[in-house]
Amino acid sequence: MSSMTASGHSRAHVDLHRNLAEKTLRRAAIYSGGNWVSSTASGTMEHRNPTTGEVQGELVIAGSSEVDDAVSAARAALAGWRSTPADVKRSLLRSLADAIKANIDDLEVLGVLDNGNTRATVRAAALRGADFLDYYAGWPDKLSGLVIPSYPGDALNYTVPEPFGVVAAMVNWNGPLVATCRKIGPALAAGNTVVVKSPELAPFQVQRFAELCEAVGIPPGVVNIVPGGPETGAALVSHAGVDKVSFTGSTATAKKIMAAAAVNLTPVALELGGKAANIVCADADIEKAAAMAGMYGAVVNSGQGCLLPTLLLVEDGIYDAFMDRVVSVVESVKIGDPLDRATAMGPLISSGARDRVASIIDGAAASGGSTLLTGGARLGGEFEDGYFLQPTIFGDVDPHAKIAREEIFGPVLSALRFDSEEEALSIAHGTRYALSGFVHTNDVRRAHRMAGALKAGSVSVNGINPLAPSVPFGGSGDSGFGREGGEEGLLEFVRTKNVYVSL
Ligand code: NAD
Repeated sequence: MSSMTASGHSRAHVDLHRNLAEKTLRRAAIYSGGNWVSSTASGTMEHRNPTTGEVQGELVIAGSSEVDDAVSAARAALAGWRSTPADVKRSLLRSLADAIKANIDDLEVLGVLDNGNTRATVRAAALRGADFLDYYAGWPDKLSGLVIPSYPGDALNYTVPEPFGVVAAMVNWNGPLVATCRKIGPALAAGNTVVVKSPELAPFQVQRFAELCEAVGIPPGVVNIVPGGPETGAALVSHAGVDKVSFTGSTATAKKIMAAAAVNLTPVALELGGKAANIVCADADIEKAAAMAGMYGAVVNSGQGCLLPTLLLVEDGIYDAFMDRVVSVVESVKIGDPLDRATAMGPLISSGARDRVASIIDGAAASGGSTLLTGGARLGGEFEDGYFLQPTIFGDVDPHAKIAREEIFGPVLSALRFDSEEEALSIAHGTRYALSGFVHTNDVRRAHRMAGALKAGSVSVNGINPLAPSVPFGGSGDSGFGREGGEEGLLEFVRTKNVYVSL
């Protein structure tokens, strides 16, 4: 049996984390113009392991002069990358995808240490990142323009797809590698060069990604990484040398980024938050729908996912029996050390996130507009110092309550009853977000009717969209604008030139 530390951690648990951290984490450095910079006047930030709360690494903070250098390096590499033949771009992107697959075991551990997601989730997300690169590797030789019939007079009138230039890619912490690949794949395929701002809460997978870019021979300056916090991000998005900003993060930060980008009229694409409704009709496959509702609504990624179905709407006739099933699904989940392969749910990203979500739970429990069906507490004992919260479900939530309308970004599911499709849609639309939506029904007409009516960039019926790289994903309203994935995701990084040649 393992001994316990003063704070209650099992010694074996802490040692495992320390050993892995020492073996896999180094200081996350700046990668700029093919050079590594591991100290700056801006200093460093500590990185804490979400599972233990211990400092396990640090990241260098890129200040405005390092951001300047990275943007200049990206600018200097632009002409060369843009004119690199399509087949060479394709093989480099494929090599990068292969390098992710070859290093998947390391990337899996790094990802768990980065953000506390489970091994299976991190591994699948990293492989999905490779899949995005593979998909976009197929585009450089397919990006083509049009010849437009011209009048009046004789002319050759055609369009040419051109890269924007230098792209600033602001990457989220809850899936940092896949997010990097979703932005870098199409940006590079279209001939842009990129400066990535890695997330301060999860910088290490992106650091390893930069090493892989170097190892497979992505030319210096084509991909640059600047770690750091909000100030680094602000320096990047307001930089006059940046031609396009692609941001994934919160709505509040997105508004600041748009304002900063407005100074240079830099175009932006914004992938923001969500409050996705999961509408379960009485004719649905109840067992399948309950498993999905519980796992994706309160367990997966500890609720830290923009598209997760955290607003559960259940048709009145089946509500009580359905909620019993959802509660039992959630209560059977193993919460704990995400390095343990049996764990289905790890910690939240930070002590701040845990405390913020805990206070939302306490506020909702005290306000009386709902019934707490399960969860609501922190984990104690061995996990006392980690950022854990139990998966939490509130039932019979008042549709006007904050927990029915606002994104929580934690393991909290809010459930309500509905009587009619109209009522379900009206509750679902009681938020300014419009990213994703879910419907469970075996009635094909109802499925299409509701999918058509739901305000969301993506609707899943009787399951959850695995978001293959060929699929466009994005939202509207407070969920932002622009698309990632598929041809639309590529076109975010392309602008069209028209050429008119009088004959
Ligand atoms: P956040 O907006 O607080 O931070 C995101 C990034 O912006 C960080 O790298 C931060 O350093 C940087 N930043 C902060 N202030 C800045 C400023 N003034 N200028 C420039 N950069 C600045 O987001 P978060 O809380 O870390 O992430 C959670 C949010 O992200 C949630 O709302 C979630 O729904 C959303 N998200 C969306 C998607 C999607 O694909 N739509 C995916 C994951 C997460």
